[in-house]
Amino acid sequence: MVSSSRRDRRVLAGGIAAIVVAVVVAVAAALWTTAGPVDRAPVASPTASALPSVAVSGAASAPASRRTAEVVTPSPAAPLEPLPEPTSAPGAPASVPAPPAGGRSLAGRVIVIDPGHQLGNSRFPAQVNASVDAGGFTKACNTTGTATDGGYPEATFAWEVAVLMREELEAAGATVVLTRSSNSASAWGPCIDERGRIGNPGWSGPTADLEISLHGDGNLSAGARGFHVIAPESRAGWTDDIAAPSLVLARAVRDGLLGVGVPVSTYLGVDGLDVRGDLGTLNWSDKPTVMVELGNMRDPGDAALMTSAAGRRTYAVGVVAGVTRFLG
Ligand SMILES: [Zn+2]
Repeated sequence: MVSSSRRDRRVLAGGIAAIVVAVVVAVAAALWTTAGPVDRAPVASPTASALPSVAVSGAASAPASRRTAEVVTPSPAAPLEPLPEPTSAPGAPASVPAPPAGGRSLAGRVIVIDPGHQLGNSRFPAQVNASVDAGGFTKACNTTGTATDGGYPEATFAWEVAVLMREELEAAGATVVLTRSSNSASAWGPCIDERGRIGNPGWSGPTADLEISLHGDGNLSAGARGFHVIAPESRAGWTDDIAAPSLVLARAVRDGLLGVGVPVSTYLGVDGLDVRGDLGTLNWSDKPTVMVELGNMRDPGDAALMTSAAGRRTYAVGVVAGVTRFLG
């Protein structure tokens, strides 16, 4: 049968309504007698307690996602690994202090960070080996840099520490300029002279208060490990105007790294400090500058620190502490 009269439909609807009411009443009565209002209360409780935990985990995860995005975004070609929690990596100090820049404003300050080398330098030998003026003498535009025995490149290490430093310095209000905008296997440079000139008065960007050049060493001597900070030698017409403040900066960065437990060099410098006149990046700078060899990448202990996210953050925190102290 396809159709029915209107009266038949009313009778049918009335019957269904009566059945539904009866079922609802019966179910409600059954619930009341078997559970009761007190016993039902816990049923609602998990739902209520789940709501705040979802809200909290959402709020907690949001900054972590943004932080990861900030680290990855500047270098899409880089083999950057996500940043796990600092406590999970081996070889790092047990605890990393809060960023020392926090709470002290660096507003108005301009800091150049020079992540030494570029990941793709080895693929551009003609450009990288071309001679440039390194401060009254010629030197190769750049080098490929070194790596750990496991193959973690110096260029990537320097880049990742630089990005962490930029994050902390910008959080304190500073303007940060990096001497390269990517860590890419298909890019090279800039040359050492340009790295030193970036941030000088008269260059195309903001004039910097200081420049930090980040490196990892590749020394093969047994037991050679630890960081050292290199200040420019005073050279007439080149660095005689910045040698003194650069040495003050070197001591501040040295103390910052010691303060977070980074081991000091066993093989170069004195008490973590060295002075050199042969480095083009330092020679070309017209603002206080230092080069930091954060560790020896060929030493297993240093390599463990350098290849861990926690270790890299420790280096970044230590150098930022020195920068903050110097600018304080
Ligand atoms: Zn280097």
